[in-house]
Amino acid sequence: MANPTVAYFYDPDVGNFHYGPSHPMKPHRIALTHCLVLHYGLYKKMKVYRPYRASAHDMCRFHSEEYINFLQSVTPQTVQNYTKSLSAYNVGDDCPVFDGLFDFCSMYTGASLEAAVKLNNNHCDIAINWSGGLHHAKKFEASGFCYVNDIVISILELLKYHPRVLYIDIDIHHGDGVQEAFYLTDRVMTVSFHRYGNYFFPGTGDMYESGAESGRYYSVNVPLKEGIDDQTYMQVFKPVIQAVMESYRPTCVVLQCGADSLGSDRLGCFNLSVRGHGECVRVVKGYGLPMLVLGGGGYTKRNVARCWTYETSVLLDDEINNDLPYNEYLEYFGPDFSLHPDITTKQENCNTKEYLDNIRMTVNDNLKNVAHAPSVQMQDVGPDFVGFDLKTELDPDVRNHQEEIDRRIEPVNEFYDGEKDNDKDADGFLDV
Ligand SMILES: [Zn+2]
Repeated sequence: MANPTVAYFYDPDVGNFHYGPSHPMKPHRIALTHCLVLHYGLYKKMKVYRPYRASAHDMCRFHSEEYINFLQSVTPQTVQNYTKSLSAYNVGDDCPVFDGLFDFCSMYTGASLEAAVKLNNNHCDIAINWSGGLHHAKKFEASGFCYVNDIVISILELLKYHPRVLYIDIDIHHGDGVQEAFYLTDRVMTVSFHRYGNYFFPGTGDMYESGAESGRYYSVNVPLKEGIDDQTYMQVFKPVIQAVMESYRPTCVVLQCGADSLGSDRLGCFNLSVRGHGECVRVVKGYGLPMLVLGGGGYTKRNVARCWTYETSVLLDDEINNDLPYNEYLEYFGPDFSLHPDITTKQENCNTKEYLDNIRMTVNDNLKNVAHAPSVQMQDVGPDFVGFDLKTELDPDVRNHQEEIDRRIEPVNEFYDGEKDNDKDADGFLDV
């Protein structure tokens, strides 16, 4: 893809939400990332959008109405009236009720959904939403800091135009919510690389979980042990992705870039560098397919921001300086103030060559059953399992939906050109 058009979605309010003082998930990391993206000047090379906000109706394309109604009505002030619902919907400690919870979901989900619409309409080749990628959310409940599964909802949108969507997940946790949603269909292949074993969350993602019914062999899992480094990760990532591309021949890709697979993550136990993580993005981009690029986990804020900024530059084919530009959050990045400090740890890499060879062989054996990409009928979709019906959902409202979205969009890139570039008060946009 020569000079791909890159669209970038950012809501200036998304960094202002708080899960709670001791909770590891910090939406502020999105503001931190955006700040670096601005100060490196990367916004000049992309179409920057203030995204659409998803409605409860949009969310119900995947989730149950009862669950979404609950998310929409519960507040920290009324939470004591919802005891039963809290346990039914798995809301509480990991997934707390916080101020503005529904608005937060609406922002990150709206951005992913609009990104999918833009890709469908060829308004861009690559769409980025670092606030999205909440891969654990289930149809009926919250899970692992995720409430609404923006990935599933945006893949459903992509399926209106794309016969085969490939989902790749490099978060340290298994992409269970997305796998479960598409477990029975060959319209979506899910490929997840993650830590597995010793009760590591969420506990699924064994390499023998490979899909069922029409989806048999269309779920691919690469379970890894702790301490994996750049070189070892690439030894398994590259051949698996190549085999997947050759056998499945997707027409577009959704890449979840959870940054908790970096070394020194507050919750993770992998040992990737920012360059190593970014190499996965480069490899996938190399196939030249339309791409939806999303965030995900990542709990050492400064490194999440470094990682997603670097990956933005990779998607733009732009080389950016290792010295961070001056910015209002510079203090977060000391003492080195660089994009690529050594974040690896001394943790032992427990992934032996034999262990990885065995995974690769199992994955390859499974993919042989996918040897010829299915010639999918576009109307041949929607197992009951996922609880939605693509036939009734789709085309009729595409145009209205698009118009609605276009009305809401403010192409903000021109706000930053010229003198206002470094003026954080002029447009109020950087004060997040
Ligand atoms: Zn994660």
